[in-house]
Amino acid sequence: MADYFNAQELHQMVEENRRVAHYGEVASYIPELQHADPERLGITVVPLNGKPITAGDCHLDFSLQSISKVISLMVALSDNGFERVFSKVGMEPSGEPFNSISKLETVENHIPLNPMINSGAIAVASLIKGESVDLKFEKVLEFIKKIAKNQGITINDKVYRSEMETGDRNRAVAYFMKSTGIIEGNVDEALDLYFRLCSISVTCHDLAQMAAFLANDGIVPGTHDQLIDVEIIKAVNTIMFTAGMYNESGESAMRTGIPAKSGVSGGILAVAPGKMGIGIIGPAINKKGNSIAGLRLLSNFSRRFGLHLLA
Ligand code: GLN
Repeated sequence: MADYFNAQELHQMVEENRRVAHYGEVASYIPELQHADPERLGITVVPLNGKPITAGDCHLDFSLQSISKVISLMVALSDNGFERVFSKVGMEPSGEPFNSISKLETVENHIPLNPMINSGAIAVASLIKGESVDLKFEKVLEFIKKIAKNQGITINDKVYRSEMETGDRNRAVAYFMKSTGIIEGNVDEALDLYFRLCSISVTCHDLAQMAAFLANDGIVPGTHDQLIDVEIIKAVNTIMFTAGMYNESGESAMRTGIPAKSGVSGGILAVAPGKMGIGIIGPAINKKGNSIAGLRLLSNFSRRFGLHLLA
């Protein structure tokens, strides 16, 4: 797999896709995110048996944002099992923007459609077990450090404060879910945990390592530790495939053919099961909240290396 692709070719792909970034914009509704360079584009690939390869601007960090939803789902499923989690959140693509409120009122039993949109992820965060928000956060952060093989990962306090200051829509969604019984515990704690998880700072390399864990059936590549049950990994990959890119999930699944999760900071985590993990950053996002150059780079990469799962 190491000779499968070379850094030179990857570099060329990055440069070819960088120019589409100007069709998008850096997210500004969380003020701290607007400082990112829209022209930035980088990719790291971690093959399951080979050395990581990086091209483009991968040295700077960025916040996980919605990519944290994948991690919370793994932890909540491990803590509670399938039955409890999927009594509070659905498994269907929403076809709605990531921060949509509207369907929560009309959908059966007011269950958020899936764990990859904000409502579903806040419901999932409310299920993570621990004595306090601090301990819950520490537990999830430790898990991230393990699967990313990076003990240095930490929260970006500025992003966290920015999320807290501007998170009223998420509060509205969470309080609505409290009123319908989807959130049972302390709603402010669930929100706080959600905001903190969105604010964790990573690089493309961290994303690619995490994706490699998901590509490797829940075992950190190079170890023998089954950290997460295979059934959970299968479920998380499937939900990413059908709902990971919000209301662009169908198109993304068609073009890239692999499970992927985006965040509004422009990160994409993509999983080629049994083959590799991919991490991308491209802060200019489209109207649906996905990295515009990043998504194009991912589909070119997938096509070039035959990753499409249904091909
Ligand atoms: N923290 C962001 C929010 O809650 C995450 C959204 C995203 O990445 N799509 O709005």
